Amino acid sequence: MEIAEIKQQLSILTVLEHYGIRPNKNKMLCCPFHDDKNPSMQVYAETNTVFCFSGNCSKNGKAMDTIQFIQDKESCTKHEAIKKAQSLIGAVTQQAAPKPTIQPENLTEIFAKLKQSFYSSSKSRAYAESRNIYTAKLEAGYNNGTHYSRLKNCIVFPLKDRENNIVSFYGRNIESKGKDDRHFYTANRKGLYSRSA
Ligand SMILES: [Zn+2]
Repeated sequence: MEIAEIKQQLSILTVLEHYGIRPNKNKMLCCPFHDDKNPSMQVYAETNTVFCFSGNCSKNGKAMDTIQFIQDKESCTKHEAIKKAQSLIGAVTQQAAPKPTIQPENLTEIFAKLKQSFYSSSKSRAYAESRNIYTAKLEAGYNNGTHYSRLKNCIVFPLKDRENNIVSFYGRNIESKGKDDRHFYTANRKGLYSRSA
């Protein structure tokens, strides 16, 4: 990972939090690099840097970025600081990662239920008819949220792999009025589009 990439992905707040440092509401904190009683270090979240305003501080006068902060906090080499920064990004990514992907068997079961909902819901049928996608051949489900909270209010199309297993869902929200929030894929978007056969 390039240094620029690390700096882009790693928030200064994540770094501070890692060291148990919380800025106050003015985004100031007690500088960890000098004996600081009144917070004299300013956090610049936009640029992911901090700046110590104290004349008593060896860090005074220059902005510190995430890697520099780690390097000085750990008294380590830049190389080690970069490694540390990468591990912090990894930790963040893991936290943000979605829950384990639903197994294909479950998707098949879920889709069987959604398919029933599709034919029993006048709303979804009317929508499909209006869009000329309502054919007997069409494999589509409707998710009112009863069986599957994700893709709620969506017409759901299965995405399949070459073995015809459902590996993911594509959802078209028929309740949404917005233009950009109508289309959804489940996390595991690796399927080929549903074959009509
Ligand atoms: Zn300082």
